[in-house]
Amino acid sequence: MDLTYSATELAFRDEVSAWLRDNLPVDLRAKVANYAHLTREELLRWHRILAAKGWIAPSWPTEWGGTGWTVVQRYLFEEECGYAGAPPLIPFGLAMCAPVLLKFGTEAQKQCFLPRIYHGEDFWCQGYSEPGSGSDLASLKTTAVRCADHYIVNGQKTWTTMAHMADWIFCLVRTDPSTERKQDGISFLLIDMRTPGITVRPLLLMDGHHEVNEVFFDDVTVPVANLVHEEGKGWTVAKYLLGHERMNTARIGASRRELAKLKQFAAQQMKDGRPLLDDPRFRDKVSRVEVELMALAVTNLRFLDQLRGGRAPGADVSMLKITGTEIQQALTELMMQAAGPLAAAFAPTDDAVGFDAFTAALAPRYCNFRKTSIYAGSNEIQRNIIAKLSLGL
Ligand SMILES: Cc1cc2nc3c(=O)[nH]c(=O)nc-3n(C[C@H](O)[C@H](O)[C@H](O)COP(=O)(O)OP(=O)(O)OC[C@H]3O[C@@H](n4cnc5c(N)ncnc54)[C@H](O)[C@@H]3O)c2cc1C
Repeated sequence: MDLTYSATELAFRDEVSAWLRDNLPVDLRAKVANYAHLTREELLRWHRILAAKGWIAPSWPTEWGGTGWTVVQRYLFEEECGYAGAPPLIPFGLAMCAPVLLKFGTEAQKQCFLPRIYHGEDFWCQGYSEPGSGSDLASLKTTAVRCADHYIVNGQKTWTTMAHMADWIFCLVRTDPSTERKQDGISFLLIDMRTPGITVRPLLLMDGHHEVNEVFFDDVTVPVANLVHEEGKGWTVAKYLLGHERMNTARIGASRRELAKLKQFAAQQMKDGRPLLDDPRFRDKVSRVEVELMALAVTNLRFLDQLRGGRAPGADVSMLKITGTEIQQALTELMMQAAGPLAAAFAPTDDAVGFDAFTAALAPRYCNFRKTSIYAGSNEIQRNIIAKLSLGL
């Protein structure tokens, strides 16, 4: 097993890092550094800069705009973007809907949607979860009844990230309620968010921010041409998509950046007359996270080595999601400890000593990051997957 990078891979990393230094807009970098929420326009601005460079969809086939990079190059690119503090790329179109269309879509669907996703013309969201159907996704109840050349959709999705900004939603719907297995009779539909009968209502997260929504479908008409794969075979599509979702959650580069920021911040904070970073108990906690992060990076390399050898990683790829999100959460906790009272969850006044946009954002961010162990399949469910499929328990 080879857990090192080749000279060519290291040269590629330097090329990406240099390009990011020159092309990542300063204002976007600053917003990410201060944990500010980015608007749809800001997210799409960064998307379009990468699209113009030809780097927006590395994993797509080259005929659709993919870069032709190896899996290691793709990982290095993601890591460098995270480390540089680039805005996140919203995955719903690029990394979820597009791979599904590439594998299961008709030629017409590919021609219609892929170029628009590539160039950041459509903003997508994911309509999987419903009230009572999160971990037990296959129990979903939203129905789609076929009438000639269209479906009539009724039901409700929930926790739909960025639905209030989205032009399109991909949805799991029940087209046959009479099947014995609940996984059967589910279909995968692409729905235009401007269709009459769709209502989006905000759900505020713990940090008070509007990021997720409830989406209601009331006699919504969807052309049959927007069905992906066969009717009733949506569960196959759903499982394929969830595999892609899990690969994107480790965020090692972003955690490396946060760890560096934490150390820098803790070196400036004084406790008992010395920098907090020199406090043995605090230092011990930081070291533990750093070791976990290094171990995660090595585990990631192990999966990359499998992919390099043409072998798909097994269910234990869920480890990346579990440990990656635990590290992200631990970093927000240590950042709160480092800030102490400065991290109080209220807006700073002009004369408050030590407050700035960074420390004022720490408590909301800490609250916001509780989500990471829930979304993309909760960490408990990931442990079940490993136990069942990898360990045979
Ligand atoms: C911020 C955020 C954004 C999200 N964005 C989207 C989105 O864009 N689109 C979308 O479709 N969904 C989205 N989700 C939904 C997410 O996928 C679900 O919240 C998640 O799958 C858990 O489902 P649930 O909330 O219904 O909780 P439940 O399934 O009710 O689980 C409750 C608790 O019980 C545990 N649990 C459940 N079953 C088991 C079991 N068998 N073994 C052990 N423990 C179990 C869970 O781990 C959890 O801790 C988002 C969620 C959040 C928090």
